[in-house]
Amino acid sequence: MSYNNTAWLNDVRPNPYADQLALGFRHLRFTRSLEREYRDYFLEENFDLKRIALGAGLLIWLAFAVLDFYLVSSETRWWMLAVRLGVLGLLLGCGVLMIQRRHRHLLAPLSLVCIGSLGVGAGAVVAIAHRSDPSFPYEGLLLVCMAAYFLVGLRLVEALGVSLVILLAYVGLELWAGLPWPRLVNNLLFLLFGNIAGAVGCYLLEFKSREHFLISRLMRVLADHDSLTGLYNRRSFNRQLERLWRQAQRERHGLALLLCDVDHFKAYNDRYGHQAGDLVLQQVARVLEGTARRPLDMAVRLGGEEFAVLLYDIGEQEARRCAEKLRASLEEQSIRHEASPTAPVLTMSIGVACVHPQPGMPLGKLYELYEHADRALYEGKAFGRNRVVA
Ligand code: GH3
Ligand code: MG
Ligand code: MG
Repeated sequence: MSYNNTAWLNDVRPNPYADQLALGFRHLRFTRSLEREYRDYFLEENFDLKRIALGAGLLIWLAFAVLDFYLVSSETRWWMLAVRLGVLGLLLGCGVLMIQRRHRHLLAPLSLVCIGSLGVGAGAVVAIAHRSDPSFPYEGLLLVCMAAYFLVGLRLVEALGVSLVILLAYVGLELWAGLPWPRLVNNLLFLLFGNIAGAVGCYLLEFKSREHFLISRLMRVLADHDSLTGLYNRRSFNRQLERLWRQAQRERHGLALLLCDVDHFKAYNDRYGHQAGDLVLQQVARVLEGTARRPLDMAVRLGGEEFAVLLYDIGEQEARRCAEKLRASLEEQSIRHEASPTAPVLTMSIGVACVHPQPGMPLGKLYELYEHADRALYEGKAFGRNRVVA
């Protein structure tokens, strides 16, 4: 199985999700950093499923313990009950750890322990019963393996590994119990074919889960970024602005907004063509990215030839210095612009506004930040362009 239909992906590359989709993942493995991201996503996705499965497993295990008590005669049932109690204790211990989110990193090994002990425990119960009654039902083992493939939120390798351990333990226990060969072979074949069906289903499920992960992450990147420059777009800018406002309120940090507008860009298009204009916008974007380097900073294309830089934890002096550096950096690129009355090269004007959000300040103040920066930019244009106004 492979991910066909990859032609459209060429339009959005380079992007790690698109690259992986194009590369394929039929061995159910991504490149290293993506694989780590997928495992985190997979654990988070399956957290509730694991808890529900654990609860259901406990109840079913208890129900069968009660049944054993009534169905099995003689002293063997005490041995069976002892095994059931042992497994029950293990499940409860793991369950206590699993319901706490701070043990999230233990979630995968703990669920392997749970499903493994259920399987091996079931094998032991069956083998004990087979010592006196070779017709005692053993199919419950397959049920445990199916749970491993489909209900516990395990990856294929994990489910396959734990099922193999259960089957091997079962063979060992039956040899100890002395089950006649023809019966053992019959039981094993049944369990083996059941496991093959489970593994195939689990493979398809994981393949689809991985595909869904890549496509949904890719869609999110596409929805948040501008397709021409790769900068963030207006939508993610608005979201980030509100988020940073709240964070700045909590941490009492300053926030600065730099609104940038390329000077005489219409004239540039008219002179050099729209395609050259596009390339220049990409060049401007790279210059902006150089300014928004820290993790919470953000360079945005608001639309057309209008950009913004959002800077976190910054004072007015520093913001003005950043803006001046940004303006100078574009000028130093020396992009020829013969149609500009301002300078022989491409330039931009920048309006700067800063705010120190106080706790309790209404969100409406946030939009004043934008208005102030916009007014400053307008003044920059009016006073001759290629300048910073704060
Ligand atoms: P000012 O100095 O006052 O800012 O003048 P200006 O010409 O830069 O501003 P104006 O708003 O009049 O024109 C903006 C131009 O940007 C008009 C439009 O053709 C061009 N533009 C908008 N988006 C794109 C784009 O994606 N690619 C290209 N090549 N041009 C674009
Ligand atoms: Mg302009
Ligand atoms: Mg403009």
